[in-house]
Amino acid sequence: MSKTRYSPTGLHVDSLLAHAGGGCDQATGAVVPPIPTATTFVRDEDYALVSSNHIYSRDDNALFRKTEHLLASLEEGADSRLFASGMAAVAAVARIVRPGGTILAQSGIYWGTTLFLRKHCARNNIALVEADAGDLEAFQDEMAVTKPDLVWLEVPSNPFLQVADVLSISAQCKQAGALLTVDATAATPLLLKPLSLGADLVLHSATKALNGHSDLLGGVVTTGDSSSEAWAFVCEERKNAGAVMGSFEAWLLLRGLRTLALRMERMTRNAQAVAEYLEKHPKVETVLYPGLASHPQHELAKQRMTGGFGYLMSVLFKGGKEEALKVAGALDVFQRATSLGGTESLVEHRFTIEGPESGIPENLLRLSVGIEHEQDLIADLEQALAGI
Ligand code: PLP
Repeated sequence: MSKTRYSPTGLHVDSLLAHAGGGCDQATGAVVPPIPTATTFVRDEDYALVSSNHIYSRDDNALFRKTEHLLASLEEGADSRLFASGMAAVAAVARIVRPGGTILAQSGIYWGTTLFLRKHCARNNIALVEADAGDLEAFQDEMAVTKPDLVWLEVPSNPFLQVADVLSISAQCKQAGALLTVDATAATPLLLKPLSLGADLVLHSATKALNGHSDLLGGVVTTGDSSSEAWAFVCEERKNAGAVMGSFEAWLLLRGLRTLALRMERMTRNAQAVAEYLEKHPKVETVLYPGLASHPQHELAKQRMTGGFGYLMSVLFKGGKEEALKVAGALDVFQRATSLGGTESLVEHRFTIEGPESGIPENLLRLSVGIEHEQDLIADLEQALAGI
């Protein structure tokens, strides 16, 4: 998928993933690591740790480290930390900003993140400014006025699929001494590497494509500089606030990651075909997908999303809420459920879930495209659209 080779093994990303980062269980030689269930680890007679870094499982364990090491390699970053959910990762990063500080967040991102930032900032005397990152000049002007401590982007954004210019925004952040965080959940590290574009931190909901099987909640934050103050805070926050991933979830995530390259290849190809089909359909008003030439940031996405345009898209239907819900109700292969990034395709009427305050249009359906056969997905949409 990617041409990057990973040191010290020199493997391509597909091979690195297939081997779950490499190495075997030291004690037995097993090719699959055991699930560490112990919460605590003994000390010897002199009160020294029997195994270094093994004190208590809220701090760390061997499986977290193995999974984090693999995720940091994928991001071409320095270090990663797993969290109990994507939102736990969001919260840990947002808390870097102290009372009296300012966060500049992209508008129209995942509604859960927007809501968290609004409530968190209001309670903690942090100024929150929300701005459209689709217009780079306007966003950069806002940065110059706002002078934020932290800039928050989501690339591509959920559910509007905006592709913010991380490279240009990170250059301005560096000049102004602001921290830049990118939530790249809808891209995965295979399609977008925000750290190499100058971001300080990148985060993902591992619940989505990283795991890819809709059977765990998780989050991950990765840094390009493990000696930074921000990174020290994120690590301390994970340990002290305790939003740590369960060991079974870490094991499932590592297993899911083995097939990430394969899944992303198929999902991205399917999504492109579905987007092209829908765009030509007479009952469709607009398709929001960075892989379409009609997408406002298509040229930018081509430069930055080197591995493809991802599995997520939104479709706006001619008519309104009724038409969108009718299509959702008639789909058979696409499952009607929230979330994204699983092997199964999902459809969601975001307005019903998030309400009018979210600003999500009533005629919008979000599609997360899975690994099914492309013709089955298109046939399913065809029969559902015939009913409106
Ligand atoms: N970030 C994005 C872009 C998301 O779409 C989501 C969830 O949908 C989250 C973060 C939160 O992740 P989680 O549901 O794992 O807490």
